[in-house]
Amino acid sequence: MRVLYVSTEVHPALKTGGLADVNAALPPALAAAGADVRMLLPGFPALLEAATAQGARIDIGAAFGIESIGLVPCRIGATPVWLIDAPTFFARSGNPYVDGDGRDWPDNAARFALLGWIAARFADGGFDAWRPDIVHSHDWHAGLACAYLRARGGAGPGSVFTIHNLGYQGQFDATAFAALGLPDHFFSMHGLEFHGKLNFMKAALFYADRITTVSPTYAREIQGAEHGFGMEGLLRSRAGALSGILNGIATDEWNPQTDRHLGARYSADQLRGKAACGDALRAELGLTSDKRGPLLGVVSRLTPQKGLDLLLEALPVLLAGGGQCALLGSGDAALEAAWLGAAAAHPGSVAVKLGYDEALAHRLFAGSDMIAVPSRFEPCGLTQMYGLRYGTLPLVRRTGGLADTVIDAASEHANGFVFEAALSADLGAALQRALALWQQAKLWQAMQRRAMQADFGWAASAGRYMTLYRELRPHA
Ligand code: ADP
Repeated sequence: MRVLYVSTEVHPALKTGGLADVNAALPPALAAAGADVRMLLPGFPALLEAATAQGARIDIGAAFGIESIGLVPCRIGATPVWLIDAPTFFARSGNPYVDGDGRDWPDNAARFALLGWIAARFADGGFDAWRPDIVHSHDWHAGLACAYLRARGGAGPGSVFTIHNLGYQGQFDATAFAALGLPDHFFSMHGLEFHGKLNFMKAALFYADRITTVSPTYAREIQGAEHGFGMEGLLRSRAGALSGILNGIATDEWNPQTDRHLGARYSADQLRGKAACGDALRAELGLTSDKRGPLLGVVSRLTPQKGLDLLLEALPVLLAGGGQCALLGSGDAALEAAWLGAAAAHPGSVAVKLGYDEALAHRLFAGSDMIAVPSRFEPCGLTQMYGLRYGTLPLVRRTGGLADTVIDAASEHANGFVFEAALSADLGAALQRALALWQQAKLWQAMQRRAMQADFGWAASAGRYMTLYRELRPHA
């Protein structure tokens, strides 16, 4: 089964969110399950730097107004990769999608259309003798691959599209359509038009042979108005082609027994090291060593999606119960300022680190007692799984992948705390329950052990993707 895996970012070289973690772990897991998987990625400087070249650049001429585009065969880790060499589009500092001020790059439609266009050309064996059986593209950036494959027609690879976050759709003025080289009739309601705009996500949802998203619950939720971002009707009409496959986590990298970022290591059987991690974290962040209540950690982008405004409102509940809070994140200026304000108001009890810090994230997952993920919507969520693996009990809203991975303390199988509505009162009530349970050390430890014993490795998910590929191409 030859799989062309089309996306944009790969941890640790380039990461803006969980997509990068998935892209680092899923291709090797698919390879372990027997697939011949190769990635196609834009040649962002950080990826070019991280990759090991494997041969001569393949020239593919001009397209999208760019003179000389090439493919650089290389490897990232063990995975074979083609990086698209188009410096005019990709050799820009900072984030792949937005400029230094957080504004979309003005030529994003063409930049990411190029990615999809090249993906589809692999079907013709245009660059290499290797032809995929499946083109698996991820999120809106790669979504146009599905449209180009359909426009190509004839026999060819099956197309699979994975939604990692429906909240980002890649929507552009209709005027951008002319440069894409797609048939005119593709720009219609039965195509990639969405209320008069060009929409890359819709292109994928309309033209892909199969659609997946990253948890079973999110697959159901996006068929309704609350979580569908306008795509719910289309997704309902494609329900037969839509499924949810839960993400895994990189269990070698996220392992409290071996984690090189930690001063002390620990396991489900020997939790003593976790207390040492907590002490070190408190000292590092300037939190007092008062342990009347749990230390609640957060590692997150600061956007409305993540519900951290709700946590801010509920902070008094935590503090009144003797708890502390440590947040590592970055994003919205207003949320950053509000969290800094909370830290200033509660020195020793609330610590806030703005920015992106991989090593601190590890220390925070290990040293905290709980991890908060109060998202308004959450396609899968990785941080609650990191928390579980580190015996750091998640406190989450019942939505998307959070609902599929965290079992509330009310159950005998409990591994965390779950609340229903995106309201600070509901979050606060869950915090109250956590504070009460914290007083019962034996029960708390039993939950920790259960959390740490769960299997969130990628093998099961990779097996599900392989089944899906075989449904589309039984003889590959
Ligand atoms: P999303 O993709 O919506 O941001 P996920 O939970 O799927 O959410 O993935 C987020 C990933 O980014 C996790 O690996 C998390 O540890 C990491 N992360 C988020 N913010 C930070 C930060 N400020 N510093 C370090 N890692 C972060």
